[in-house]
Amino acid sequence: MSKRKISRKQAWRADKIQQERINRAKKKQAREEEELSNQGLGSEEPGRIVASFGTQLIVEDNNLEQFSCTIRQNLGTLVVGDEVIWQRMQEGKGVITATIPRTSLLERPNFHGNTKPVAANIHQILIVSSPIPTMQTALIDRYLVAVELAEIKPIIVMNKMDLLSHDALEQLQQQMQTYVEIGYEVLYVTCKTRKGLKVLKAQLENKVSVLVGQSGVGKSSTIQALLPDIEIQIGEISEISKLGKHTTSASRLYHLPYGGAIIDSPGVRDFGLWHLDKENIAMGFVEFKPYLGKCKFSNCSHLNEPECAILDAKDKRKIDKHRWQNYVKIYQALE
Ligand code: GDP
Ligand code: ZN
Repeated sequence: MSKRKISRKQAWRADKIQQERINRAKKKQAREEEELSNQGLGSEEPGRIVASFGTQLIVEDNNLEQFSCTIRQNLGTLVVGDEVIWQRMQEGKGVITATIPRTSLLERPNFHGNTKPVAANIHQILIVSSPIPTMQTALIDRYLVAVELAEIKPIIVMNKMDLLSHDALEQLQQQMQTYVEIGYEVLYVTCKTRKGLKVLKAQLENKVSVLVGQSGVGKSSTIQALLPDIEIQIGEISEISKLGKHTTSASRLYHLPYGGAIIDSPGVRDFGLWHLDKENIAMGFVEFKPYLGKCKFSNCSHLNEPECAILDAKDKRKIDKHRWQNYVKIYQALE
């Protein structure tokens, strides 16, 4: 063993320093809590977190007025989209005192095998794809699996349709027919010319949506096209947070003028490429569901086992061959 041994005395000292730090932090927190309670807080009211800059959160009240808030201890990590109970303080400030249970949560795995929440109360996830950089159904399927496993509704958005010839567009639509048949919404848009945006807007109305997809497919362009005055909203938040323009890495909720909102979070954009367990992949393929649990082996991987209900359904063309091939690709990439 090459590990450096520390003496008992060193260990005792390290422990002592650690304990002193913890005590100092506890005292500081108690002091801050006391200060808060002396500052004449307003009454408790409901609000929603609309922006997060690390530890600083912006809460919006029912009149869409925004307040820079701190969190009472023991509330855990709060994220954009969270519904909270908070109390006003002076000068556009407040304190969050309670959270309302979430209807959905996107969580990001971290290095220690734990997860960290990144956005809450989302109704649907737009999986954006485009012919450039590349349109791969395997990647769309990878996103679909993650969204299905998070139990949130996916919508597939094909952007940059201006880059396709009439024939190529027809071919793409034919290819995507498989997805329509298994119940997915597939939209075709061109952010550049705003073509197809009306249909997209109708899907977003009164819902909280998130955009995910590979870099370069046009997520920012889509948000910009949907919210031409987005700069104004960014400006407002920066002013409140006093963080100036250096807020590009923050998560934000943008209201849509026709009701509903879009949450844009850099931590969520590549959702779908996060870690998945290979045993769960099949559950993320919606059309596999009726056959799951019907294979000869309970731990069937559906790759090549005998008497596999999924392989049988594929041979009988009840499951699309390409979808199964993408299942294999995703599964094998995790091995
Ligand atoms: P993001 O990384 O997914 O946010 O993608 P961006 O919104 O930054 O867009 C990447 C590139 O694609 C930019 O150069 C955009 O101008 C371009 N782009 C976005 N939408 C369209 C479109 O509808 N048609 C074409 N031709 N280019 C687009
Ligand atoms: Zn099987």
